[in-house]
Amino acid sequence: MPLCDQALPYVRAIAPYQPGKPITQLSRETGIPAERIVKLASNENPLGMSPKAKAALQAAADSLERYPDDFELKAAVAAHTGLDRERIVLGNGSNDLLDIAARVFLAPGRSTVFSRHAFAVYPLASLTAGAELIAVPARNFGHDLDAMRAAVRPDTRLIWIANPNNPTGTFLPYAEIETFLRAIPGDVVVVLDEAYNEYLPAGIDGDSRDWLGEFPNLVITRTFSKIYGLAGLRVGYALASAEVAGLMNRVRQPFNCNNLALAAAAAALGDHEFVARSREVNRAGMEQLTAGFRQLGFEFIPSHGNFVAFRAGDAAAINEKLLRQGVIVRPIAGYGLPEWLRVTIGTEGENRRFLQALEIARE
Ligand SMILES: *Cc1c(COP(=O)(O)O)cnc(C)c1O
Repeated sequence: MPLCDQALPYVRAIAPYQPGKPITQLSRETGIPAERIVKLASNENPLGMSPKAKAALQAAADSLERYPDDFELKAAVAAHTGLDRERIVLGNGSNDLLDIAARVFLAPGRSTVFSRHAFAVYPLASLTAGAELIAVPARNFGHDLDAMRAAVRPDTRLIWIANPNNPTGTFLPYAEIETFLRAIPGDVVVVLDEAYNEYLPAGIDGDSRDWLGEFPNLVITRTFSKIYGLAGLRVGYALASAEVAGLMNRVRQPFNCNNLALAAAAAALGDHEFVARSREVNRAGMEQLTAGFRQLGFEFIPSHGNFVAFRAGDAAAINEKLLRQGVIVRPIAGYGLPEWLRVTIGTEGENRRFLQALEIARE
């Protein structure tokens, strides 16, 4: 039998993750100098990283011969969240934590529930573990929690919820999630992915951590890739009951977060000024982009993240025309939204470049 036929059938069925196009790649393809390219494709922080994180990173570069020690970052996350360190799991990006959760609770013969148009890593991590996917139709582009609850089968062991969701930016009020948690059997894990939590405006940022005491089946994941501006370092954390965190820590690679990531993340967590500035740039940029969409006549999905999905029509053609003008956004056909593109909120100047390019692209 050919070698690849010997691979696990559920692994062979996986569609590879499609990342945003790197700046250097577009530069090679078009000859546009890298410094003239605007990348708004991967929900990265347009302000870069926190200056405090950068200083910590540079200091940590002096001890890379040592294996990582996660004591300090766990202490920082514990202080930040008010939870004991036994309830914290660190990940090589929160992606790693999603994968770890899947490997702890999913396997062939088990099923997992997620929403259509939800983050691509949920089916990826679930298929890698061999589980059967139950994709629930969306409601107004967001999670339909009632339908998700109804889709739970006796063999369902894990449910994925992104709040806010990527790529749609939809947000579930905390009361709805709480009602959902009460209705879900206690032996089914609910992974609540809060990668964009820090972008929520004051007033709707209820606190999911409060549920951890009541729901030992809840796993909350957060990341340093988005508002903290550390996507390239790969670091995130999960909050769970001590029992579930203990299981996840068994599956985790012993040194899954490197020294530089640990040091930078701990410093970033304490840089409240940078977080506040990032949030403000995002708020202003959201206004700028949505005003632009209204003016140009593009439908968009109101978003609670640092990105907006808009209906481009012939999205592939519009995307190509944007690329030729040196603007990279994200096609989301792979998320079941073939007419839509997702744009990350950039600086004022980047947003302007994008809107100008979009005006030209639609002609
Ligand atoms: C960006 C993102 C993440 C974070 O991924 P990292 O691995 O932490 O970089 C997780 N979930 C969602 C929904 C995201 O959009």
